[in-house]
Amino acid sequence: MEEIEEIHRRMRADIEAAGGRLLDVLFCPHWEHDKCACRKPRPGMFFTAAGRHHIDLAGSIYVGDRLLDLEAARAAGCKFVFVGTESLPAAVTPPEHCAESLLAAVPWILAQLPGPWRTA
Ligand SMILES: [Zn+2]
Repeated sequence: MEEIEEIHRRMRADIEAAGGRLLDVLFCPHWEHDKCACRKPRPGMFFTAAGRHHIDLAGSIYVGDRLLDLEAARAAGCKFVFVGTESLPAAVTPPEHCAESLLAAVPWILAQLPGPWRTA
């Protein structure tokens, strides 16, 4: 837990040093065999974040690099941007957008924002 907290502390410091703001950090502290509600692909963390910060999940975009991220986003009712190199099986609902990296996905994400936040 100390290592996780140190990673989060450094992540927050890097984001803030770049002028960003991190609202919250959620993570699952359980093992897969615990069958908790918060371990992806289960959507528990999405619902926790939505309740804590009044987030409209249907209007939200989740960015991930793995199939289980896509599955979690779908279970929570979010749009999904895929930034990974893992190939997704044809059977899954395709992501709303694919990009080589989070940075490369930013223009598309900004174009989805409503009203005054839209920049593209
Ligand atoms: Zn969990």
